[in-house]
Amino acid sequence: MSGPRPVRAPRGTELSALGWQQEAALRMLQNNLDPEVAEHPDKLVVYGGTGKAARDWRSFDAMVRTLKGLKQDETMLVQSGRPVGVMQTHEWAPRVLIANSNLVGDWANWEEFRRLEALGLTMYGQMTAGSWIYIGTQGILQGTYETFAAVAAKKFGGTLAGTITLTAGLGGMGGAQPLAVTMNDGVALCIDCDPRAIERRIEHRYLDVKADSLEHALQLAVEARDARRPLSIGLLGNAAELLPRMLAEGAPVDIVTDQTSAHDPLAYLPLGVDFDDMASAAAKDPAGFTTRARESMAKHVEAMVGFMDAGAEVFDYGNSIRGEAQLAGYERAFAFPGFVPAYIRPLFCEGKGPFRWAALSGEASDIAKTDKAILDLFPENESLARWIKLAGERVHFQGLPARICWLGYGERDKAGERFNDMVASGELAAPLAIGRDHLDCGSVASPYRETEAMLDGSDAIADWPLLNAMVNVASGASWVSIHHGGGVGMGRSIHAGQVSVADGTKLAGEKIRRVLTNDPGMGVIRHVDAGYDIAESVADERGVRVPMREGGDA
Ligand code: NAD
Repeated sequence: MSGPRPVRAPRGTELSALGWQQEAALRMLQNNLDPEVAEHPDKLVVYGGTGKAARDWRSFDAMVRTLKGLKQDETMLVQSGRPVGVMQTHEWAPRVLIANSNLVGDWANWEEFRRLEALGLTMYGQMTAGSWIYIGTQGILQGTYETFAAVAAKKFGGTLAGTITLTAGLGGMGGAQPLAVTMNDGVALCIDCDPRAIERRIEHRYLDVKADSLEHALQLAVEARDARRPLSIGLLGNAAELLPRMLAEGAPVDIVTDQTSAHDPLAYLPLGVDFDDMASAAAKDPAGFTTRARESMAKHVEAMVGFMDAGAEVFDYGNSIRGEAQLAGYERAFAFPGFVPAYIRPLFCEGKGPFRWAALSGEASDIAKTDKAILDLFPENESLARWIKLAGERVHFQGLPARICWLGYGERDKAGERFNDMVASGELAAPLAIGRDHLDCGSVASPYRETEAMLDGSDAIADWPLLNAMVNVASGASWVSIHHGGGVGMGRSIHAGQVSVADGTKLAGEKIRRVLTNDPGMGVIRHVDAGYDIAESVADERGVRVPMREGGDA
């Protein structure tokens, strides 16, 4: 078979591969391209601008074919979305090793990447697109929920009730913003230039209503704010035009952020270009389009800084829009902080991050049972309980049923082992794929995002994600990936991911215990090394070994 076609992961317990470890990789690859999950499945694009699951349809077919015949002691090697080899390894080794979008330093820019991509030599893997553990917008929902909860705690007395958040970007990740704000009881006004993005979020119940005009949007927002009623409003338009206009008109906005695809200038709509002409304009003159997009981002960011000067809480939400605005010559681009130093770093110090799992059975009841297991395991964690309850009620599954929750060092391994026991006992209908986002505590070097403003200045040190990938290979993960450029774009990040399959066997339990201890352990040691007190306390209390803190002679 060749060319675009609808792809959907098989459900149930019948295997098309030689074991569950391979079957899981196969199903998760297919699940990433499920039309319910992927933003543009016909182009193999899963989310985040052009983040792809496979380089081309021929490579996709070759991966499916290879995974189906892959033995328990073999490993498939994937180079930027194309299977390039199968090697004999051993049963503790990962079944798949993935390297996506990596370029040598001096060549690590969009221009060179696109030249190589046009030659068919590489693809953009984003974070979980090319590593086959994207679970739809829910994947980002809890992180976004936690971030807005932290904003509420810092500035608004613990709730967003009675506040208006202004943002743009209702794509695969950005689409989590309206629901995360309303889950914190606030009002969200969300701009997107693509009418389909707005409709999709309404369909998936992430967004409540669509406004007819800016005036209508503001009227709805103010009414809901005054009634302290949660509401999310979609507004069609270009953020680079609407934000400066709203600032000039004195729109009553309390919080401002953004999740347009600013990391990739060819995925950001410049002023003066119609949305319908965007793709052809970008293809016709990428360099000219990039310049125009950056100039528009400068106007967009300038308005964000204006809102900050007027007293709003403003932060960059990990899409590199400040960096792009700076490239266009806007000097105050970095006047507001990124969300990690502002709100998330203390969680990273505890090894906390976006832990997630997907039910390979396709049964929603498997996720309901794992939700209950999480509540049983961590009864003292109130915000986790609140999240699991809200997620159970409000999250629409896309593709295979899945759940995300942020767990830390000493927690993830407990959850993983419990899940594996539940598979073994038959309580769950089939195995689970347990993974995480690459946006994690010890798996990324990204100076504009996860490692912005590190205490010791080590923002750009990329040894950490590489060690993270190696330790996950050494610990027995089912597939491991090393990517470049996810989240913030080419030349700006290096990151790693792992997925471990709970198939109910004793061997899987042994592997899971190690992987789900060592993987978040990287977050603890990375932050101990950078000098964070919280990380030092976590290491001491939970027994994470850090040789430089141990006494004794050589
Ligand atoms: P996406 O490509 O699926 O969606 C981007 C949306 O922005 C699209 O709907 C597009 O129509 C819209 N858009 C583009 N230009 C616009 C403009 N000028 N005005 C209004 N809307 C415009 O991308 P995504 O997966 O939602 O990711 C969004 C960004 O967030 C990316 O840069 C991604 O790397 C970043 N990201 C952040 C986090 C985080 O944790 N904060 C996590 C993942 C991704």
